[in-house]
Amino acid sequence: MIHKHPELQTFNDIFIAGIEGRRFDVVIKDGRFSSITEAEPHQVESNLAGTDLWLSPGIIDLHTHLAWTDFDHSDQLKRDANQIEIMQAQAFEATLRTGVTTARDAGGILPSTVQHLVQQYQHPLRVQTSSDMIGAADARGLKHLEQRMAEIFATGAGWIKIMATGGLGAPTEKVVDPIFSEEEFSFIVRNAHAHDKKVLVHTWGGVTIDWSIQAGVESIEHGMFLTEDQAGRLANSRVAFVPTTSIYRIAADPKGVLALNPIICDRAARAAECHSKAIHYAKREGVRIGFGTDYATPALHGYNLQELDTLIDYGLTRREAWQAATKSAADILGSGNELGQIAEGFIADAVVFKVDPYEAHNAEALRSNIIAVITGAKEAELI
Ligand SMILES: [Zn+2]
Repeated sequence: MIHKHPELQTFNDIFIAGIEGRRFDVVIKDGRFSSITEAEPHQVESNLAGTDLWLSPGIIDLHTHLAWTDFDHSDQLKRDANQIEIMQAQAFEATLRTGVTTARDAGGILPSTVQHLVQQYQHPLRVQTSSDMIGAADARGLKHLEQRMAEIFATGAGWIKIMATGGLGAPTEKVVDPIFSEEEFSFIVRNAHAHDKKVLVHTWGGVTIDWSIQAGVESIEHGMFLTEDQAGRLANSRVAFVPTTSIYRIAADPKGVLALNPIICDRAARAAECHSKAIHYAKREGVRIGFGTDYATPALHGYNLQELDTLIDYGLTRREAWQAATKSAADILGSGNELGQIAEGFIADAVVFKVDPYEAHNAEALRSNIIAVITGAKEAELI
């Protein structure tokens, strides 16, 4: 099911997701697409009905929490270390199996943990990390922040994650209040960039979206209270928007897999309602939208493609949603020259479907029609 680093693999007469009516011969050599040519028509006729295959680029989830095992961190602390490790390895496996070949972890996992899990359990998920998040406990001035960030840099993380506002834990009337002063916020971004680290910002909305645009962060996350005016400025900046829409719908359902208390469900419902408006503004203004799930528990890892359904429900076309999960996501990671496309020379991270993924009705139809997931890199190349 998971083909790791094919030395040589050939697909004849295969469709490439998003390219209608044309078949291709695709050759993968040494983990990269070495040749992609349109198939000869005579080969096409010999194809039996029901044996058609479609190839999509490996999906890129820009917002996961692979180290977390429980919705409440206090529940994770009750587990023993070995159990946590096994659950984390299962998260890697479930994520890969659903076609996500690259993940950006939005806080909680250290590069050393990724290395250990990839090596020990042989799940070649490509993970970019942000180690510990910078949040409310760090709003203690520039000196403290400098020290705190030095610790994060030392872990080898490529990203700095700023918790700029509250989230589901915050009362509605306070949720967009900034956690940091503007001076602290801009210092964090400046200092991260000075150390060649990228920055992702958790913000539900309000002034911290403006600060993010001004400071030139790489992406804002969630952003359900994004205004029309902010969407316009976001589009003009290089800042990407990773809305993580599906998690709020899931959290809003008291009978859903998260089964949260009614107060949290209400907050999530309000967030979900605003999200569809934010997506509408973002799409209209031409904001660069990236696919991210914010999935963090065993009930959610492996169901990442649900985010496509929600993005489409909120107004993206299927093509736009797939773009957000492949090419745009690769660009946001700074890997657009080798990930996110079925193209010659690119890393052969790919998903093989037995249905046209652009025609599949929903995430479940996609998930159950995956034939294989291909990862271009060897484990050793990921650690
Ligand atoms: Zn998150």
